[in-house]
Amino acid sequence: MKRDLQTLSHLRQDLRRLVAEMGESMKAMFGRDPLIKGTVYEMARKCGKPSCTCCRGALHRSTVLSVSHHGKTKLISIPPARLTELREKSKAYQDFRRARANVSAIGKKMLVVIDQIERIRREEP
Ligand SMILES: [Zn+2]
Repeated sequence: MKRDLQTLSHLRQDLRRLVAEMGESMKAMFGRDPLIKGTVYEMARKCGKPSCTCCRGALHRSTVLSVSHHGKTKLISIPPARLTELREKSKAYQDFRRARANVSAIGKKMLVVIDQIERIRREEP
């Protein structure tokens, strides 16, 4: 019984720590900023015209938003005026998704601890 009480207090500590971690991860869900799915990156490519300067190393550079949808990757070119905005919103989306994954993982850990607590606290009528 004494051992159970020690274990119980450890489990309660674990649970408190998980609640704190959960609160931290949930912050992303309470934001209001728009999210844009995708990744912004710079592309450097050759156009294929034999006379073009890109054949001599001056590659065509453009910034794109890469969005995968049903397994297909769509590249949307970004006008310079929207670059900062799209960078921020796509980063916000990635942060949101990372936080969501954390919420899910922490939730699973919580259930494990909660079930252990139940096992210790239960008694027969
Ligand atoms: Zn070219």
